Amino acid sequence: MTKRVLILSTTTGYQLRSFGHAAMELGIDLIFATDRCHALDDPWRDGAVAIRFHEEDAAVDTVVAAATRRPLHGVIAVGDRPVVLAARIAEALGLPGNPPHAARASANKRLARETLYRAGLRVPEFLPSSTRADVVPLAVRLQYPVVLKPVALSGSRGVIRADTPTQMVAAFQRVSTLLSRFDIRAQRYGSEGELLIESFIPGHEYAIEGVVTDGRVSAFAVFDKPDPLDGPFFEESIYVTPAAISAETERAILDAVQEATSAIGLRHGPLHAECRVNPGGVYVLEVAARPIGGLCSRVLRFASGRHRHSLEHVLLQHALGHDVSRESRETEAAAVMMIPIPCRGVYKGVSGQDAALRVPFVEDVQITAKLDQLLEPLPEAGSYLGFIFARAPLPGQVEAAVREAHRRLAFSVVPAIDLRAG
Ligand code: ADP
Repeated sequence: MTKRVLILSTTTGYQLRSFGHAAMELGIDLIFATDRCHALDDPWRDGAVAIRFHEEDAAVDTVVAAATRRPLHGVIAVGDRPVVLAARIAEALGLPGNPPHAARASANKRLARETLYRAGLRVPEFLPSSTRADVVPLAVRLQYPVVLKPVALSGSRGVIRADTPTQMVAAFQRVSTLLSRFDIRAQRYGSEGELLIESFIPGHEYAIEGVVTDGRVSAFAVFDKPDPLDGPFFEESIYVTPAAISAETERAILDAVQEATSAIGLRHGPLHAECRVNPGGVYVLEVAARPIGGLCSRVLRFASGRHRHSLEHVLLQHALGHDVSRESRETEAAAVMMIPIPCRGVYKGVSGQDAALRVPFVEDVQITAKLDQLLEPLPEAGSYLGFIFARAPLPGQVEAAVREAHRRLAFSVVPAIDLRAG
């Protein structure tokens, strides 16, 4: 019987196409469930199940009902928002997945910190707060530097470092304004006014991509983030794998990620973790029960015999309960640059793509910004202008290649007319 996997996703786009491609290779049927209004009857003509991610009970019922007609054998959350829903659906249908309480703890920064702290793991000092707090007396009491963040957003949105009480007050107002924006409230993330204040952890940052099976983490890659992430905003830019670290440091990172995963209680599914390493040890900043986002997943390529396949290919097999612990990334070094948005404005185009593609080891340059799109940098919004990929024998070569390709690109961004002004 053909196996069928449900993909819960906020966005359409590259990663879903990649799941589609992998499903074809594997002879698996995919069903998509997206966050959209029931009133529109299949507006995209893609046969997707229409659910509202914030109406969890109703969404579980809808999917369970759909599964009686088209039985499901696996479920995958793409992006942060459907992580809890995916866990609840897996539980309701008896499919491999995470316990809902664990998925919830992984997706909520306050719950995650509290859980890791209770388990005795290394965490920044943290203080839950809210946009309603009286910020001036609060700011005077804190020990600096701190990082202020909204509990429910992701992708570093609203994450700001403050070194003084004055900076803290400004950051607090900026995050509060962000959280009151219509487009944010419309997403109904939950925990809307909740903030977290943390001690700033200095150090070098790494990301870990893998899966959890029966509670055990199998890491496919440890990524180095070679650019310093010291704030005041924390924009991701370059990921390089393998990371230039000793076997001992890698072991310490993987052990810390395993401890954090066990403490949170994740059991089965994709895993993307972020951690900071300094002489005091490894601090796991995030353990997310979802894969690396969007186009970035292309930086990982798996090899079995003469065949190469994608992360999405491996994740589909894993969702069906197959053993993927022996899947290994190609041995070459790989890097991706998430091209940062330089300033707020309207995107008018790019030149230099051919020159960028001619840089040795550069494999692809994908510009994802759309003509006339309003671009907003962090901390208010965080997407990218596009992505640069490189592959080479050594990590230093791929890092240099994506930097050189980026230097050859010239983006045209013109000031936006701000209708709120005047
Ligand atoms: P998100 O889920 O929105 O990405 P995170 O809490 O993971 O939010 O923070 C985003 C980034 O901000 C981290 O990858 C890290 O670079 C930085 N950061 C967050 N918290 C701290 C902290 N306590 N100390 C130092 N840097 C931090």
